[in-house]
Amino acid sequence: METLYAEEVNAWEAQVARSDLAAKKLTLDEGLWKILREPSREIIVHIPVQLDDGTLEIFTGFRVQHSIDRGPAKGGIRYSPNLTLDEARALASWMTWKCALVNIPFGGAAGGVICDPDKMSKRELERLTRRYTAELIEVLGPEKDVPGPDINTDEQIMAWIMDTYSMHVRHTVTAVVTGKPLELGGSKGRNEATGRGLMIVCDEALKKLSMNRDQTRVIIQGFGNVGSNAARLMHRRGYKIVGASKSTGGLYNKDGIDIGALWEYYQRKNTFKGFPGAEEADPADLLVRDCDILIPAAVENQITSRNADRLKAQILCEAANGPTTAEADEILADKRVFAIPDILANSGGVTVSYFEWVQDRQGYFWLESEVNRHLEHVMRSAFAEVLQYAESHGVSNRIAAYMLAIDRVAYTLRQRGIYA
Ligand code: NAD
Repeated sequence: METLYAEEVNAWEAQVARSDLAAKKLTLDEGLWKILREPSREIIVHIPVQLDDGTLEIFTGFRVQHSIDRGPAKGGIRYSPNLTLDEARALASWMTWKCALVNIPFGGAAGGVICDPDKMSKRELERLTRRYTAELIEVLGPEKDVPGPDINTDEQIMAWIMDTYSMHVRHTVTAVVTGKPLELGGSKGRNEATGRGLMIVCDEALKKLSMNRDQTRVIIQGFGNVGSNAARLMHRRGYKIVGASKSTGGLYNKDGIDIGALWEYYQRKNTFKGFPGAEEADPADLLVRDCDILIPAAVENQITSRNADRLKAQILCEAANGPTTAEADEILADKRVFAIPDILANSGGVTVSYFEWVQDRQGYFWLESEVNRHLEHVMRSAFAEVLQYAESHGVSNRIAAYMLAIDRVAYTLRQRGIYA
């Protein structure tokens, strides 16, 4: 049977396919594009970690700084058995474009460690995080490179990074990392910021397409930090969440899932299995079930040439980084699916990370309502800008987002001058 599962697509190549096209449409100077296209720094570390049974293991980690042209490099830390240098490169460049698109003063970075957190104890993860941070001590810092959470990393891991960095420089530096616990300099609203940003752009898309929220059925792939927060916020706002999945299983209910009940069930049982309010569904199959909005909030390359023609959704709102392959883009365009590209849709996370960094550096913390108000403003402006650009230049939303972002970074580089 033909599989609906992810195609093996190299994330870096997928990123390059779109950004090359955007640079070409911008008629960017070839030399300038050569500089902007490649990551400016790539670090590979092989770190020893003592396991709980006393043995030593060596783990491989990366940190890629794609650009520091518009400010300190900014980007997530991912813990995954499948992490590759190319994936880190792709994530780092997406961060550069994303920060430029929402016009915040950061460049782009990404990194992480090849490991399987499900098979490691909390103590082992702490030792791994601290040694990884120590290895990168010279390249991290509030003015240099500011990590944040990504797949399989959370506020506890950010707290260990902050503490390790602070121990090395011998004073507390909260602004070295974002996504921290509130008590350690975190920002109100950061935890749900990516999900809130997704909801805001979905609201805007509904307005654009004259669709009614109460009748809008949503399927969300991935129930981690981003997916579960998007589900909870959108459910509260009146969207009907008809499907949700984890890597281990999915749920579907055409009349809508009670997300509050699912959340509570999941907290207790740590599984979707046995949840009474929906039927079980295969996670890959859920991508092509009936819905109006599909939100892939898991990993890369989920919507591919193998399943794109079977998508039922009218709106594709990309919560994950790189969930759609370049080939699938063309199929979706033919089907007139309204795509909200990742660098726009999931930029709420880095936007509130920027607010966290600002608050840490000011030593003055905002009310949650202020954080959400500023976030709403940034997301709505970026959405309007991308749509306007797409319409006036006759390009897709994705290429419009890339063109706007690349043009902004290129402008900065030209103004600074090239030290070649
Ligand atoms: P997470 O580790 O908290 O959650 C990932 C979820 O995806 C888990 O529920 C996992 O079970 C699920 N999953 C993995 N493979 C799956 C599959 N094949 N089918 C169904 N579910 C699957 O990670 P996260 O922080 O929520 O990040 C999710 C995505 O959003 C990533 O692509 C990340 O780069 C992107 N992102 C995250 C943030 C952030 O603030 N955390 C910001 C911007 C973008």
